Amino acid sequence: MSDRFMEFTQSPFGKSFASLLGLPTPPRLIRAKAPWADRPLDGKFATVGASNGAQLSEALLEALAATGATLRIVPEHAGLAPVKQAAAAQKINLTGNPADASAPRSQVLAFDASGISSPEQLRELYDFFQPLVRSVPSNGRVVVLSRAPEGIEEIGLKTAQTALRGFMRSLAKEIGKNGTTCNLLEVAEGGEGWLAAPLRFFLSEHSAYVTGQLLRVGPGSKGAELQPLAGSLAGKVALVTGAARGIGAAISEVLAREGAKVIGMDHPSAEGGLGETMARIGGHGLALDVTAPDAAERIAAEVSGKFGGLDIVVHNAGITRDKMLRNMTQQQWDLVLNINLGAILRINEGLLKKGLNNGARVVCISSIGGIGGNAGQTNYGSTKAGVIGYTQAMAAAMAKRGGAINAVAPGFIETAMTAAMPLGPREVGRRINSLSQAGLPQDIAETVAFMASPAAAGVNGSTLRVCGQNWFGA
Ligand code: NAD
Repeated sequence: MSDRFMEFTQSPFGKSFASLLGLPTPPRLIRAKAPWADRPLDGKFATVGASNGAQLSEALLEALAATGATLRIVPEHAGLAPVKQAAAAQKINLTGNPADASAPRSQVLAFDASGISSPEQLRELYDFFQPLVRSVPSNGRVVVLSRAPEGIEEIGLKTAQTALRGFMRSLAKEIGKNGTTCNLLEVAEGGEGWLAAPLRFFLSEHSAYVTGQLLRVGPGSKGAELQPLAGSLAGKVALVTGAARGIGAAISEVLAREGAKVIGMDHPSAEGGLGETMARIGGHGLALDVTAPDAAERIAAEVSGKFGGLDIVVHNAGITRDKMLRNMTQQQWDLVLNINLGAILRINEGLLKKGLNNGARVVCISSIGGIGGNAGQTNYGSTKAGVIGYTQAMAAAMAKRGGAINAVAPGFIETAMTAAMPLGPREVGRRINSLSQAGLPQDIAETVAFMASPAAAGVNGSTLRVCGQNWFGA
């Protein structure tokens, strides 16, 4: 469904009209049109900074330089020494002063805040970002690196590293107006070597609707090998449930774009749509209800001979049956719980016995409804929160097999599900986020593809919201 308000405000008249009335003017987001590139930031500038005592600058600079961006520094800032040392160690050239008005604008601001260990030292954030932030062009990217607070015992360090979450979320709300995103990568012990893919994802056009989020990067799964994101899904075999339409169809398309062989599964009643989607991407259709008691065995039978097992499973099939709890029937409760949550556990359990290759990565679709809750969605909210708990519970077991399990929590996305909402709530749902617009199925699909990649081996047990920083449950 098209967003008429957004189209209107993007015309010169509409823009002035909206600004006169103080209405939001949603920015036009630039989304990826091609597969992951080797050097996505070729020809662009990235300004890099660090705090005193920063520990992640080498990993940051190495990953940034590999994107093709020209790296620049701010002279005289507190963490110049770690940045310069990291650059010298890796023979990376650092150039010019981005605060100079005649310098080209930096598309990316990247700051290693891992050394900040006191309230006073948080001032280094202000010193770096304050002079630069207004110069970031539209659809820019800001990424902050920190140490994952959960593993820290030292009081000052834990306090300051946690404070970075509030900084990142607030800055994301300020800069969303021009389509710029701001996210935080929290690096746990052993995660330093796995920074490249998540950083690249956050800096790319593949994450246009991901802002105000934190993502934990930990040690890679057992036996995982470092590899670039580009090309990492080539030849992988992926199962996507609910693939006939909406988000599932988009996930199938993006996985196929990245070179995966897609087996799209959907309810037999959606076989027609499934066939069309699979024909479009050269995928293979499987008409099967996720709640069938033998679903896992049938999937395994379908994939083991022809495809040699699954490398990726995306649990996307989901439904709503909204009613206030006082009016909800038992059937409405049971159906949603069974499709959105019970089936995921049963299918995984079966596939872990047979059908899933070692190193397989599983991605489950949650929802911000499972984080913020929603009147009329006690059934749906339970399932989507349950999905988050399930991914956390399964992360260690998946890592032992060399794989991972993560969740993606969509915000308000333009699909048949949201088109069915009444106009008022639909319009509110679109605007209550930092980018003032709904996401597209492609936005969810891009994040799923990233989570499904072996290059993201340091990301496990996490839930990433793709919601334009929706205020709901934030
Ligand atoms: P959709 O209704 O457009 O598509 C869902 C697909 O799942 C359909 O093709 C449907 O046939 C299939 N399906 C339903 N029951 C099934 C079953 N028993 N067996 C097999 N397939 C079944 O929905 P969508 O908007 O594309 O949502 C996809 C996922 O994203 C869902 O899990 C949903 O909860 C989640 N989500 C969507 C939004 C949004 O704004 N659209 C927001 C948050 C989360």
